[in-house]
Amino acid sequence: MGVSGSDFRPNLRGSGLRGRMAIGAIAAGFVVPLLVLGLWLHHAMTGRTAMPAYVVRLTLPDGARPIGLPPIEGPADASRPLVVIDAGHGGRDPGAGGPGGAHEKTLALALALAVRDALLADGRVRVALTRSDDRYLVLPERSGIAQRLHADLFLSIHADAVDGADATGATVYTLSDKGSDALADAAAAHENRVDTVNGVALGGQNDAVSQFLVDLSQQRMRTQSLAFAALIRREGDGHFRFRQQPLQQAAFVVLKSLDLPSVLLEAGYISSPEDVREMQSRAWRDEFGKAVAHAIEIFLASQATAPSG
Ligand SMILES: [Zn+2]
Repeated sequence: MGVSGSDFRPNLRGSGLRGRMAIGAIAAGFVVPLLVLGLWLHHAMTGRTAMPAYVVRLTLPDGARPIGLPPIEGPADASRPLVVIDAGHGGRDPGAGGPGGAHEKTLALALALAVRDALLADGRVRVALTRSDDRYLVLPERSGIAQRLHADLFLSIHADAVDGADATGATVYTLSDKGSDALADAAAAHENRVDTVNGVALGGQNDAVSQFLVDLSQQRMRTQSLAFAALIRREGDGHFRFRQQPLQQAAFVVLKSLDLPSVLLEAGYISSPEDVREMQSRAWRDEFGKAVAHAIEIFLASQATAPSG
């Protein structure tokens, strides 16, 4: 050892080596700092400095946390219509409970994924999910995702529960200030409760529902939402069961702030062992997903060809 460098730079051997090293040291010691000083003076004089004067960091309060938007799946063509599918509940909000430890949040996600998969298989429309895992979202975050993505349609999927009644089958809900019957009001009360943790309301929007004023734009959205609900009924017929009088209206908070057609679909009753058995079956969910996907595709195609205004 002790010959470091010489093996790689044989041309620097000999008596001239020390002299060249000395010149190199002078260059490094004086010329380079002078160059740096000159560049700095130039920037200081002209004021063209690339460094920001200061950095602002904002600490957002809890509850105002901006959440990342979910990915948009399906055709890359951004002119294709976009549906946002919302799996109800999630995380620390399990939703309704059913026989055998079934949780509404788990069934809702499985059903939402089935609709998503059917849409992606057809490849006609773009899809985004408000959640694709077991996470907690407050209701305004769900509708907020649809608004921020400029979605054309919003579908929230749930599994209903009733106490002491043997109701079965799917119900399609659209927004209304007042429920179309007591069962509809009960379903809305149940779904709206998810933003209340230990009796404290999150978001503070629940009280506003009763004061909701219908303007022309909202009236149009309601008409379109009703048309989509009717399509789910039509396309679902023969593929999954509906309850008696399946088209209902109620004051759902998750639909309230949306200015796009929106529907809340209770795929079945988690309080019904028969419905739970079906919703837990992969084959049943696949058929459900295909039928709902057809309703979505037909609705969005009709919106694309309908005159706007
Ligand atoms: Zn629910």
